[in-house]
Amino acid sequence: MLELDKRSLMYLPGVGPRKAEVLKKEAGLVSYEDLLFYFPYRYVDRSRFYKVSEVDGEMPYLQLKGRILSFDTIGEMRGKRLIARFTDGTGVIDLVWFKGLNYIKDKYVIGQEYIVFGKPTEFAQSYNIVHPEIDPVSQEGQVASGLTPFYNTTEKMKKSFLNSRAIQDLEYTLLSNLNFQIPETLPPYLLGRIRMVSVTEAMRNIHFPESTEKLRRAQLRLKFDELFFIQLNILRTSRLRSMKLKGIVFPKVGEYFNTFYKDYLPFELTNAQKRVMREIRADMGSGRQMNRLLQGDVGSGKTLVALLALLLTIDNHCQGCIMAPTEILANQHYATIKGFLKDMDVRVELLTGSTGKKERARILPAIASGEVQIVIGTHALIEETVVFASLGLAIIDEQHRFGVEQRSRLWIKNRIVPHVLVMTATPIPRTLAMTLYGDLDVSVIDELPPGRKPVKTLHRYDNKKAELYEFMRREIQKGRQVYVVYPLIEGSEKLDYKNLEEGFKVFKEVFSECKVCMVHGKMKAVDKEAQMRQFVSGQAQILMATTVIEVGVNVPNASVMVIESAERFGLSQLHQLRGRVGRGSEQSYCILVSSYKLSSDTRKRLEIMVNSNDGFEIAEADLRLRGHGDLEGTQQSGEGIGLRIANLASDGQILQFARDLANEVLDADPELTSEQNRPLRERLASLFRRKINWGLIS
Ligand code: ADP
Ligand code: MG
Repeated sequence: MLELDKRSLMYLPGVGPRKAEVLKKEAGLVSYEDLLFYFPYRYVDRSRFYKVSEVDGEMPYLQLKGRILSFDTIGEMRGKRLIARFTDGTGVIDLVWFKGLNYIKDKYVIGQEYIVFGKPTEFAQSYNIVHPEIDPVSQEGQVASGLTPFYNTTEKMKKSFLNSRAIQDLEYTLLSNLNFQIPETLPPYLLGRIRMVSVTEAMRNIHFPESTEKLRRAQLRLKFDELFFIQLNILRTSRLRSMKLKGIVFPKVGEYFNTFYKDYLPFELTNAQKRVMREIRADMGSGRQMNRLLQGDVGSGKTLVALLALLLTIDNHCQGCIMAPTEILANQHYATIKGFLKDMDVRVELLTGSTGKKERARILPAIASGEVQIVIGTHALIEETVVFASLGLAIIDEQHRFGVEQRSRLWIKNRIVPHVLVMTATPIPRTLAMTLYGDLDVSVIDELPPGRKPVKTLHRYDNKKAELYEFMRREIQKGRQVYVVYPLIEGSEKLDYKNLEEGFKVFKEVFSECKVCMVHGKMKAVDKEAQMRQFVSGQAQILMATTVIEVGVNVPNASVMVIESAERFGLSQLHQLRGRVGRGSEQSYCILVSSYKLSSDTRKRLEIMVNSNDGFEIAEADLRLRGHGDLEGTQQSGEGIGLRIANLASDGQILQFARDLANEVLDADPELTSEQNRPLRERLASLFRRKINWGLIS
């Protein structure tokens, strides 16, 4: 093996220490393998030259052939720019640079023939191309198919002369360094099965496509590889786990469960809840460790299912816990569960970051002795000092916020591996679930408790504020409460907080007869709690917030959700927010406020929200519109998949094929110990080196 993952890019000709540092920091590229797998994000057809006289501002990327007439440097300081007048005899167009002026001026020669590539934009009634790519005509032949790859680059990369073109050059250097031979990832018997091109062929054509057909085949092979090894890893891990990890058997439905079910449960379970409970009970009685993902739209009644599972656990003399991503949520779970259990004799405790020393001194020993039966908490639960006597069930609420590693820290110090139930209100499309949580069994609550009126969703432009206020006022007069949510986007927090605070002032003025409160992530926990409490208790009519209220808060009397700058939210997030209302018996509303100028994708997103209340439908649409890379929650968990070429929105068939084949391979050789599967074993080891330990425990 060439061990491409161990060879540092620093030593690739043309890189060196400084550029290596930039590649690492900006694009995470460290090894030969990283660069090889840094695929173009698009290809542009450069098979034809346009005439300067044809150019208009609507055109996409195009290429021109001609000569530079003159260079001029104009402007001062930051406005300083270099302008080259360029002509092909049919007209003149400006080429403009804001950076690297001297370098450019030295590099290109007036009067020589060049190929210029870029996107024309309209500027002061003429056209120019900003930061074009320029090649001498002599290099024309190099791009045989006319398909030019484009690589993602950042500003910092460009400043270090690592633009898309430079990356392409590096790819070429790398390939020639390897004599254009890349080690095959699949053993011959599988290569014969899949009937796809070799890795070598695929790598050559992904970076330097000879034709669109060859490019398509290269993409197919590389997508397959990517998905195949992920599936092989997930399936092997979960098979091994189910062989090795014995689960605690909970054979009986006892006093606690039965008493609650008969005497305390205030309503009939929905059919979906009943079905999920059966699935959970089967797992817990099977002798294998449960690893189950519970999906259900907001308000579908997951908390109740969690409680029932906890009661089963304590019936079998074990402890259970719920780990929530935020303190507010942990508090709410605690309150809900205490409320449900009323005067039943179950010891439930709350443990969060703000649990005081004295409290801790009281609670921790009681957890260690087993007196505390149910613990609700946050990250605080995974601290060293928390030791359970016998943790039998760990429920993780909103898994996005907890990595696999964090999850397993919860019980790595326990003698026994508890059953694990992961709950999420973000419905996950099937392809994504197969990839992200392929090792979990999935239960779905696809039915809302009876009597809910679907939330009415409206889209309004932000120049019609007066009508919005009028509407809010009418609802408040009916005794309802209103959420107003502002976006909080990483990188622009400062501005976002400013927007929220300015909005707060406006609302206090407009709704002077009401109590308006505000919460955001920068507030101290105590202040946040105080503000929340005012809203939960009904003292305040309007709660203004950043997305911190996204998950979990339950105020049935709140019937209006106003989402400011709705265009800045993703679909799943909008859907989550909308789930905060519609929890009571009154008609609820969700009002998406956006500016008038919207991209067509954004318009589509808002339309989908207006037309659908179904979380799964919305998640599928989100996947189609944005691709999995941007899907909420997959950013962190995506670290585990890190897809570089496959697209879960469009490659479902390849995924299914890859999964079936992986299953076949494992049926014949569960631990991949046979000689013929050695390449698979080695590839997995290098791909998942850092993750494999956690995989076994999650
Ligand atoms: P989720 O956690 O899935 O968002 P919750 O468990 O908070 O949903 O349930 C939402 C609301 O519905 C709660 O007030 C809960 O008490 C109520 N609820 C749950 N199950 C039922 C049911 N079967 N019938 C009626 N109400 C229910
Ligand atoms: Mg909930």
